[in-house]
Amino acid sequence: MGEFDVIRHFFQRPPRRKDVVTGSGDDCALLRVPADALLAVSTDTLVSGIHFFADMDPVRLGHKALAVNLSDLAAMGAEPRWVSLALTLPQIDEAWLAGFAQGFLELADFFHVDLIGGDMTRGPLSITVSIKGVVPEQGAMHRNGAKPGDAIWVTGELGGAALALQHQFGQVMLPSEALPSLLERLEQPTPRVVAGMALRGVASSGLDLSDGLASDLGHILRASGVGAQIELDRLPLPQALLAQPDALRWQLALAGGDDYELCFTVPEAQRGVLATALANAGVNISEIGRIVAGAPQIEWLYRGEPVSLVLNGWDHFKEST
Ligand SMILES: [Mg+2]
Repeated sequence: MGEFDVIRHFFQRPPRRKDVVTGSGDDCALLRVPADALLAVSTDTLVSGIHFFADMDPVRLGHKALAVNLSDLAAMGAEPRWVSLALTLPQIDEAWLAGFAQGFLELADFFHVDLIGGDMTRGPLSITVSIKGVVPEQGAMHRNGAKPGDAIWVTGELGGAALALQHQFGQVMLPSEALPSLLERLEQPTPRVVAGMALRGVASSGLDLSDGLASDLGHILRASGVGAQIELDRLPLPQALLAQPDALRWQLALAGGDDYELCFTVPEAQRGVLATALANAGVNISEIGRIVAGAPQIEWLYRGEPVSLVLNGWDHFKEST
């Protein structure tokens, strides 16, 4: 199989969306963008050995490559519509390509996203995905809107993916019954697309957690010129992480990365509509702290008392923001 055969066989399908005037197979895709919305665009590259193990299940890898991009659109409240995919492959491995395409296209179908083009080259395994979506100008969730008094919330649970990675590195031993759900958090994260869209007009700021709360919340604090207090005892953590020693638990929950949950701030005036807005988002939310006036720093509290935490940078498998 040559490059064009691979693309045709595994990735080329007739457009499913009506706003795709010309899909893959021509020199470029032609898309109809609504006149009253902004185009949201985000690109991420995953490199073998840096962002994932070379022998990772290709179905899961296909899912994850798209999921981390969808997560960035979710972080701005955008509705995903179109995606392009550039694959660099050491060789044409048809079984691997079939698995990768399955994982990628199943997730694309779930969110009604059309694959509208891409590229394929020979080289060390790497995957670049560029996702496009739309968001109403007034609804986009930026990083710079947090104000003192806003509550800080997160979707889902934190630290599960990082804990699974520690298991894969042989650094922790997890009970076998806990492992499948934690591995799924690492390898097949669910992008919070529905929650992100539901937070339009409700959240004052937000982003997705790719590097860990400690680092990612810092982006909101610097962009908004505010500080934060986080109550460690209110963090939503998986049971298996609660069972770990204190230092490891906070390290993985706050600096482990790969969570792909949303962190967002909500003004008091919007507190009453939050639960209703997220009722159909398919994910729990937890209030974990508040925005305060002052320098862009996080004060960690445990049962109301300040505690000092030493968090190390986490280089392995770190995702970009
Ligand atoms: Mg992001």
